Amino acid sequence: LLARVHSSTLVGIQPVPVQVQVHLTPGLPSISVVGLPQSAVREGKDRVRAALQQTGIALPAQRVTVNLAPADVRKEGSGFDLPVAVGLAICSLGLPPECLEATAFLGELGLDGELRPVRGALAVARGCREVGMQTLIVPEGNGREAAAADPTLQVLTAGSLRQVVQHLQGRARLTRAAPPDRDAGASALLGAGCFSEVRGQEGAKRALEVAAAGGHNLALIGPPGTGKTMLARRFPAILPPLGQEEALEVTTIHSVTGLLPDDAGVVRARPFRAPHHTTSRAGMVGGGTPVRPGEISLAHRGVLFLDELPEFRRGVLETLRQPLEAGWVSVVRARERYRFPSRFTLMTAMNPCPCGHLGDENQACTCDPGQVARYRNRVSGPLWDRVDLHVEVCSPSVEVLRGTGTGEASGAIRQRVMEARERQSNRLGPGRVNGEMAPGEVDASVPLGQAGEALLRRSAVSLGLSARAIHRVLKVARTIADLEGSGSVRRDHLAEAIQYRVLDRSGGEGAA
Ligand SMILES: [Zn+2]
Repeated sequence: LLARVHSSTLVGIQPVPVQVQVHLTPGLPSISVVGLPQSAVREGKDRVRAALQQTGIALPAQRVTVNLAPADVRKEGSGFDLPVAVGLAICSLGLPPECLEATAFLGELGLDGELRPVRGALAVARGCREVGMQTLIVPEGNGREAAAADPTLQVLTAGSLRQVVQHLQGRARLTRAAPPDRDAGASALLGAGCFSEVRGQEGAKRALEVAAAGGHNLALIGPPGTGKTMLARRFPAILPPLGQEEALEVTTIHSVTGLLPDDAGVVRARPFRAPHHTTSRAGMVGGGTPVRPGEISLAHRGVLFLDELPEFRRGVLETLRQPLEAGWVSVVRARERYRFPSRFTLMTAMNPCPCGHLGDENQACTCDPGQVARYRNRVSGPLWDRVDLHVEVCSPSVEVLRGTGTGEASGAIRQRVMEARERQSNRLGPGRVNGEMAPGEVDASVPLGQAGEALLRRSAVSLGLSARAIHRVLKVARTIADLEGSGSVRRDHLAEAIQYRVLDRSGGEGAA
């Protein structure tokens, strides 16, 4: 006797179809699970046994072998409880195998037979669609998420094993999950806080707008308590809303990592991740058992904010270089390679010196030049090379703090950002931004007049700008022109872009 039940496991964030095959052979009653089950799958045996008992289904009085095929893929997670229980129930109740046709199962069982949500339901649902499944049965808490995968996949939700069995017997129908609302995007942004609440800081706000418009990485430099974090947290709200495909990518990563709340449906707000400076390499780029995405992938399509940048371990910061260039990261573990997307805006914040008050009008700095240089050198040059804008954040004046006037709202800024991005798409291709331009594209897209060329040459000498820094300046100048709707890059666009190289400037002085 044999039952075949469709399900799926995840390798990283990739779904891999799995067939649960139940064999009965003469012998003492027992259950064994084969086919590279990892610990959570092996432990599921006891949950399945108890849940079947609670549902009033007797286990076959024979030797049961559950084979998870293909045998060479590790099976992770508790989601196999339901397909294994269904396979045993089919054998025990003698239901026709046709009731399982083109239907996949996913879910963890409680000892009482209740179904509990699992990680990665969206990824599994997309995988099911790809291999031609028509129906996926999941726990109630996973319904909305799974239903977002594809409108042609029927997602049914169940609260317990009993309900699933009654559905298969044709005695009751499970309810179909409704896909989450696609238009919920705008309201999701409201939680981030609005720029109108930030008083003063006009220069910093302008720089954030430029960064959002061109997809530029950015460093905020200023004394403690000047609101660097407050500014950073509001940044996602001036980025364009997530597109449908982007939202599914983000949801998949958050779901696999266990960060998606039950019944959440789809993530609509751009992620903002602010890992602590003690974060390990695995926490940053991905790792663990089973292998999960790290902070840079949780920040995919959003913002990775590194506060107190010089406090991060150098080795951890070095791991950011490749994903910053490529937009994805590769994690190798036990001869297996996992690939996670990581296209994010890097935003960093740091004090100007160890005591924090270099250049502060309100308090004197107590550091000597050697201490300042050592502090800044903790961040490697190659990482700095990937930051387009350096922004000085100063303490707002008393007049500004006491004023009642509110700044511009995030929505208005976002509108300009989206218009500037549209111009970039038209020039560079759909979805591309100036921050991603290759050196050859920079030369073609940023024609400078004579005045511009002269300014650039003078600045390169006086500020000691490297060839890479000059490319950054040109990309940022292009974005400033795009924000204004200007086809050509003028001298004043270039001048603004040059003043975003604060650290090159002070680095030059230090070296002199
Ligand atoms: Zn200092």
